[in-house]
Amino acid sequence: IAFNSARFLTSAARLDQCPEDTGREVAFAGRSNSGKSSAINAITRIGNLARTSKTPGRTQLINFFSLSTPGTRLVDLPGYGFARVSRNTQKQWEKHLGDYLAHRQSLVSMTLIMDLRHPLSEFDAMLIEWCEHHGLPMMLLLTKADKLKSNPARRQIESVRRDLEGIECIHHIQPFSALKGQGVEPARNHLSDWLLG
Ligand code: GDP
Repeated sequence: IAFNSARFLTSAARLDQCPEDTGREVAFAGRSNSGKSSAINAITRIGNLARTSKTPGRTQLINFFSLSTPGTRLVDLPGYGFARVSRNTQKQWEKHLGDYLAHRQSLVSMTLIMDLRHPLSEFDAMLIEWCEHHGLPMMLLLTKADKLKSNPARRQIESVRRDLEGIECIHHIQPFSALKGQGVEPARNHLSDWLLG
């Protein structure tokens, strides 16, 4: 799959605003500042693609990008864990995301972006539970790996693996660095496998 062919398609605030539910799409989730935009940019090699999702008014939306392989899409889910959103907004957001996960037929896998130094927030854990519940395969990108020296990085990755042992929906746990390009190629390969079915 040519990930650098990604083009902004549309934004959706609710399930009924999503593009037609055909073909195959993979979604990217992560708390804000986890490095999600940088990871999407590294994978697509398009410097400002995910910035589209950060333009004011779009940060709370589900953003869809089409790829040149017909019927395939990347989906940038809103970053969670904003310090300043109200409890109500948070609940609304969880409902929309829950609807999307539960009902979207074309969703074939979830990529969860976590800062290697701060993995498994409460919301990360909830997302993993949802994916396990719906049998949705996941890839975990443990990003900003370049910020740790190799031994602490390795220990941290092992600790995440241990914490998640036995969770069947998790297919790949990949150390990643948008800065150094670490993990980009394996991530692309897994995404291609899911998108091409
Ligand atoms: P988002 O809010 O999850 O989309 O996060 P961003 O992609 O905007 O990244 C948040 C901050 O982390 C920015 O300052 C990035 O430059 C930095 N960052 C993201 N990925 C990496 C990485 O792999 N290595 C390093 N060193 N910094 C990163």
